[in-house]
Amino acid sequence: MLPIIIANWKMNLNVAASAVLAKNLAKKLKRISGREVALCPSFSALYAVGEILKRSRLKLGVQDLFWENVGAYTGEESPKFLRQLGCCYAIVGHSERRQNFKETDGQVRQKIKSALANDLTPILCVGETFSERQEGRTDSIIMNQVIQALAGVDLIPSEHLVIAYEPVWVIGSGQAIEPSEAENAFKIIRQSLIDLWPLTIVKNNVRIIYGGSIDATNVKDFTTLDYFAGFLVGGASLDENEFVKIIESC
Ligand code: PEP
Repeated sequence: MLPIIIANWKMNLNVAASAVLAKNLAKKLKRISGREVALCPSFSALYAVGEILKRSRLKLGVQDLFWENVGAYTGEESPKFLRQLGCCYAIVGHSERRQNFKETDGQVRQKIKSALANDLTPILCVGETFSERQEGRTDSIIMNQVIQALAGVDLIPSEHLVIAYEPVWVIGSGQAIEPSEAENAFKIIRQSLIDLWPLTIVKNNVRIIYGGSIDATNVKDFTTLDYFAGFLVGGASLDENEFVKIIESC
């Protein structure tokens, strides 16, 4: 599988600004090969960005979704409709949703199942908070989040999954984690997956990536780590030059 670099624009750009950034990236990355790139704009910009990406090699992703396809769920977004809109990826369980919207592991699991059922590749976010790290619980938190999110999920050969290790205390801080700590998290995630699924599925269908204050200056520290398969990028993905440099470094 190719490394994947995912832009999470969060709620930072309106439709016009998202369209401009998507157009510029599509142009600059016209000849991109050997890696996959996905852009996750806010809901209001999905259609506009999707139309631009149709003529490019870049993929469309969404920052969240609901687990039901249709019904009386005011304010939610249907995975089925998101797929119809051209989304290929869906971020699930981002720490900002777990913290600000009290999203539980059970809800994360429902979203993962529903994304897969609708031909969307989930980008499952896991990671410890600063206090969990201080308490020495990093490994168990990561393992538990992976196991809880994937319990009862049987990934089949036609399905894919991305797991983003994102230490919560590092997101948006401007200071990435020590690469060796990311590598340790990758190994824990991989081992948790091996306990759940056949090794061939883990090897061929799952990419484990890093997210948390990645920029053009620190990107190279991570690309040679064992099991590294890409990045989830927040702040630096809003700057087209910076984001292109990160992609080119992978
Ligand atoms: C994120 O929020 O997923 C993220 C990685 O943000 P940043 O790159 O800004 O730390």
